[in-house]
Amino acid sequence: MTVQLNLGALPDSKYAAQLQKSPSPARLPAALEREFIRDSLGAQRLIVRFACTLALLLLLLRTAELAAAGALLADPLRAAALGAVALGSVALAWLAFSRAYLRLYLPIAHWLVPLRSALLAAEVVMLACGGQPLMMMLLPLLLVGPLFFLGLPFRAGLLSAALAFLLALATAIALHLPPAMLLGGSGLLFATLLISVLAARVNERRARREFLERRLLGELAQQDALTWTKNRLVFDETLGRLWSQAASAARSLAIGLIDIDDFKAYNDRYGHQAGDAALRRAAQAIERCARRPLDLVARYGGEEFGVILFDTDRAGAAAMAEAMRCAVESLAIEHDTSRCGEVLTISVGVAVLQPSAGRNAYGALQLADETLYQAKSKGRNRIEVRDETEHGLLVTAEFS
Ligand code: GH3
Ligand code: MG
Ligand code: MG
Repeated sequence: MTVQLNLGALPDSKYAAQLQKSPSPARLPAALEREFIRDSLGAQRLIVRFACTLALLLLLLRTAELAAAGALLADPLRAAALGAVALGSVALAWLAFSRAYLRLYLPIAHWLVPLRSALLAAEVVMLACGGQPLMMMLLPLLLVGPLFFLGLPFRAGLLSAALAFLLALATAIALHLPPAMLLGGSGLLFATLLISVLAARVNERRARREFLERRLLGELAQQDALTWTKNRLVFDETLGRLWSQAASAARSLAIGLIDIDDFKAYNDRYGHQAGDAALRRAAQAIERCARRPLDLVARYGGEEFGVILFDTDRAGAAAMAEAMRCAVESLAIEHDTSRCGEVLTISVGVAVLQPSAGRNAYGALQLADETLYQAKSKGRNRIEVRDETEHGLLVTAEFS
């Protein structure tokens, strides 16, 4: 069974927006394009390693062969060109295996691969004209390699393949290859170039689409489908991670639980659809308050939200909780059957703690839950905060 997503209905997703605009684009906006190129370079690493190593071995073999025959001394220009290409190939092969691969491989390969392909194409034609016609079989490899196996974006691959073709042709003309051979050979080579370029173009467009879809799926797997806040899975994972991070950095963690007041009555009075819309608006208002990089707002379940604030003390957590309460209240969503006012409101319970040995995130959540219960029992539409000094009040779990 396939599910058709309504891409226009997914808010805040640059991937969904792009897929909607153009599903298989030839190019993405600059920042997305950089993300795509980095992603596909990472995915192609194994094949890039293989291709770079093979190219280096062939080159070294050829250079050694020429050196043994004394040909390099006789032609210093050719020797210098081959030497430069061999050095560049060593650098590329090294980068393919190094930790700097994602950062440095492309900027170097971008100009080095076209240069190498062109020089090697000329070299191969010289060898073929000098009595080794079998060498011609390497030419298609020089066209196809940069387009498919060296991790280059399409345009750089195209430049490389086109340069190799043109230099091979120019060398063949300069060396007076018989016209029949020249015509037949260049025709076949051009056909190879054309087919490879078309295939590489289709390939890259498909890769862009798959990249956008993969990223969108990654986002969807983290989001709550109704409110578009992060989902429970992300909340649990983030809590565990930030708990350890706060413990090792000796920072405090504020964990808040938010619950909409008298929401059952809201559904009963205005209907479930209106309830969904109100839930969505409340979630967005709450989320707008927590914008620091490590802040998290997630749908915890039903009409409850979980909040995690890293390195936040009691005063900071209380201010944030109050800002969230005010934000929802000032949406002024009518709720005339509420026990605590005329509009939709929330209650917030916050536990502020210092993670350490013997304490765990489960106890911290329980403390936040009991603090929320306290806010409810004190009349709703209010916030309550408990910190280090009040762990002893916890009745549903241990938190020493
Ligand atoms: P309290 O102030 O004590 O929290 O009262 P309450 O009515 O909000 O609490 P209760 O737990 O009795 O009811 C929660 C309601 O939230 C019941 C349920 O129908 C509603 N709810 C939970 N998830 C959704 C949802 O996704 N959409 C809608 N429309 N309602 C939801
Ligand atoms: Mg509830
Ligand atoms: Mg409720």
